[in-house]
Amino acid sequence: MKNTKQNASGKGSRAARANKKPSSVASSNSKKSSSGSNHLSASLKSLLSDLEALYKDIHSHPELSMQETRTAGIAAKRLKAAGYEVTTGVGKTGVVGLLRNGDGPTVMLRADMDALPVKEETGLPYASTVTVKDSEGNTVPVMHACGHDMHVTWLVGATTLFAKERDTWHGTLIAVFQPAEETAQGAQAMIDDKLFTRFPKPDVVLGQHVMVGPAGAIGGRTGVITSAADSFQIRMFGRGAHGSMPQASIDPVVMAAATVLRLQTIVSREIAPNDAAVVTIGSLQAGTKENVIPDEAIIKLNVRTYDEGVRKRVLAAIKRIVNAEAEASGAPKPPEITALDRYSLVSNDAEATKRVADAFREHFSREHVVEVKPTSASEDFGSFGAEWGAPSVFWFVGGTDPNVYAKAKAAGRLQEIPTNHNPRFAPVIHPTLETGIETLLISAKAWLSTDESSR
Ligand code: ZN
Ligand code: ZN
Repeated sequence: MKNTKQNASGKGSRAARANKKPSSVASSNSKKSSSGSNHLSASLKSLLSDLEALYKDIHSHPELSMQETRTAGIAAKRLKAAGYEVTTGVGKTGVVGLLRNGDGPTVMLRADMDALPVKEETGLPYASTVTVKDSEGNTVPVMHACGHDMHVTWLVGATTLFAKERDTWHGTLIAVFQPAEETAQGAQAMIDDKLFTRFPKPDVVLGQHVMVGPAGAIGGRTGVITSAADSFQIRMFGRGAHGSMPQASIDPVVMAAATVLRLQTIVSREIAPNDAAVVTIGSLQAGTKENVIPDEAIIKLNVRTYDEGVRKRVLAAIKRIVNAEAEASGAPKPPEITALDRYSLVSNDAEATKRVADAFREHFSREHVVEVKPTSASEDFGSFGAEWGAPSVFWFVGGTDPNVYAKAKAAGRLQEIPTNHNPRFAPVIHPTLETGIETLLISAKAWLSTDESSR
């Protein structure tokens, strides 16, 4: 997930943890309970210490986008051991596990595997100290700062339980371990590698993300849940000169500075107040020395929108402003605008979302299943359902210690809890781990019927 702003708790008013229900694939008739993990299914409970060790292992061995070979190897090994048909190298490092278990619907569950070039500062005993070479040959620190290590562990846990308890459901399960979510490459790489012709079409595609919010809380909504994101690099050309002779230059520093300020008027002056958009210039680089006017300036910017019409308007405005500012400065040639990564909107199917939400409310206490606003973060999860023509549902699972969250909320300091991508982002393992496994089991089971008469 890119640049998470939303938390998993909706308005964040429900920090207390209560009424957690058992929810293994085999326990659908159990009553809601008030004693949390004591009432997890015996099968899930028996897996927890192994899965905790797996989570810590993946956390301390993070891998950058499209380099997730170790993580993919672990996923493949676990799937094979559980009896899945396993295909590796789908979209370079992606792994697909298939479990055919009689007639019935097909459900796809997705976890992303990649980490970020961030230096970990959590101080955890299992913190990452890894450094690697990135795709440009620079040595960078690596950290699971977006929680994809938790996503992998959730899916390993859920797939293990589905295999163990296959007498309690029927249908086909597709587990997708996806590379390179952080660079918007992974879902498309798997699709381009014929994911859709090599594997059966699912009736529903399900995915989830760990976020700031009380651990144990689940946040979702119908319709748009994550924003569309577009990133660009803009190269503006001037004419270099001695710092003492501005008359001989076309100063790209002034050109870029004026452009940055004018770009900030798009959202405030061109977009309706009840539409939302973000234009962030995350990088502005020009020059090397105080008395040298450089030749060019490079701007890197990022756009978030929730509506295709708004998106088109913002992108057109950027192009117009960048070209006009270059012309106003007398630039020797027009700016070069290069598209970087792009994420489409993730939109939750209304009927499928209702089915998932009903199942969650049936199994978890109601105050732990909350409706959230769309987040300004972005995801490439939406590509699977969109390309496959299948409904998809994506939701958030809280990963913050509920007491820490409640205290921060009472003090009006929720914004100080380290979000995804922060060097101090550190989900609490319990009950985040078991909650995310239960949500996968419960949501998938809403399709993989356990109705005796239909077996
Ligand atoms: Zn992320
Ligand atoms: Zn993420």
